[in-house]
Amino acid sequence: MDTSLVQSCAHHPGRRGFALCMSCRKVVCQECATTWDGVNHCRPCLAERGAIAAPRQRIGRWIGWAVVCALLLLAAGRAMAWSAAMLASHQW
Ligand SMILES: [Zn+2]
Ligand SMILES: [Zn+2]
Repeated sequence: MDTSLVQSCAHHPGRRGFALCMSCRKVVCQECATTWDGVNHCRPCLAERGAIAAPRQRIGRWIGWAVVCALLLLAAGRAMAWSAAMLASHQW
């Protein structure tokens, strides 16, 4: 078997290439390759993507909390208006 034709891992020179990273186009070994969204990625590229994806999730969580707070305020406002109307009707 001629190993000179097989590209070695970009991160492990001694290891045989297993997959091609779709982000940086580097040949990576089985250990370095990670299939994510059906596409092969090397570890550094996956870490980079994870670092980009994390703040978005945090922002999404904050938007969710803002929506919950807005709904609570709306409900509180309606309850206040309702109790005010009840008080007004009792005075009559
Ligand atoms: Zn990569
Ligand atoms: Zn490797």
